[in-house]
Amino acid sequence: MNNNTILVTGAKGQLGRTLENYWAASELARDNELLLYDIDKLDLTLADTVTQELNRINPHTILNAAAYTSVDQAETDQEAAYAVNESAVANLAEWAAANDCFLVHISTDFVFDGSKSTPYLPEDEAFPLSAYGTSKFAGEAALQSRLPEKHVIIRTSWLYSEYGKNFVKTMLRLMKEKDELKVVADQIGSPTSAHSLVALILRMLSCGIGPGMYHWTDGASISWCEFAHAIQQEAIEQRLLKREIPIRPLTTKEYSTPAVRPAYSVLDRSKALNEMGMQPTDWRHELRLVIKRIASEAEK
Ligand code: NDP
Repeated sequence: MNNNTILVTGAKGQLGRTLENYWAASELARDNELLLYDIDKLDLTLADTVTQELNRINPHTILNAAAYTSVDQAETDQEAAYAVNESAVANLAEWAAANDCFLVHISTDFVFDGSKSTPYLPEDEAFPLSAYGTSKFAGEAALQSRLPEKHVIIRTSWLYSEYGKNFVKTMLRLMKEKDELKVVADQIGSPTSAHSLVALILRMLSCGIGPGMYHWTDGASISWCEFAHAIQQEAIEQRLLKREIPIRPLTTKEYSTPAVRPAYSVLDRSKALNEMGMQPTDWRHELRLVIKRIASEAEK
């Protein structure tokens, strides 16, 4: 018999830290205990230690917020990427299958190759272009085969928050330092606030959802360059930036990176909206809220 514990792995990442903020106010907190474990407390690549810890904790649900997320570094560090994004997921899934535990796992738009021009559905075939995307796709498969009835995979994209490293925070730093920026304009996707992703996860945990694949974003279909323009505008409005700098479009060819990224990776979130009764979030509104949080932190 599992106890009332929900275990979050990778808890000091963007997703884990955002979830922590919402936990106390969530109705789940009445009947469940949340255990937040980051790599220092539970390194998912140490399979035997993980199994021992899981036996001790005996959670009824695991939220796997841990991942190897350095997309470019993964190209030359594939072993490390697969260890976290595939083998560790397989290990969690095996324990969960043997112990009647539910596993919520997060995956990425980078499992797709970008050859579509309409939003990707959860059932669309994946063809990852990068080592990171391939390792995340392998993690999905490892989970689906080992724990077919008791998992949820949520693919999300362009995740950002006031925590950790992400595009919004990088842009804000560069916009302060530089007199001009050049940003890729021919990759189209959907920014997702970690806050809206957490709202979906909490909804799923409280409704007791069944197995399946879901997509979640804040509903945009924009380029990194358009996103950068919006970040600058919001930051100026929140007085986080004092001046506007020119932001010029770049092509992917002009900005070469070790990892190949999909030219189009918009995810269709309608399954999550319809089945989970979520209100559609607005990407611009979600961005404004995160920039406000960053601005109020900066004032302290
Ligand atoms: P972060 O990189 O912010 O957090 C991941 C966390 O996992 C970090 O705290 C990291 O620790 C930890 N971690 C890494 N290796 C291990 C390990 N061996 N054992 C335990 N913990 C480990 O990721 P996000 O919050 O941004 O991402 C959450 C999920 O969303 C991931 O599954 C990611 O693949 C997915 N995703 C993210 C996107 C993005 O733009 N960020 C886009 C689409 C999907 P440390 O920092 O010390 O390495």
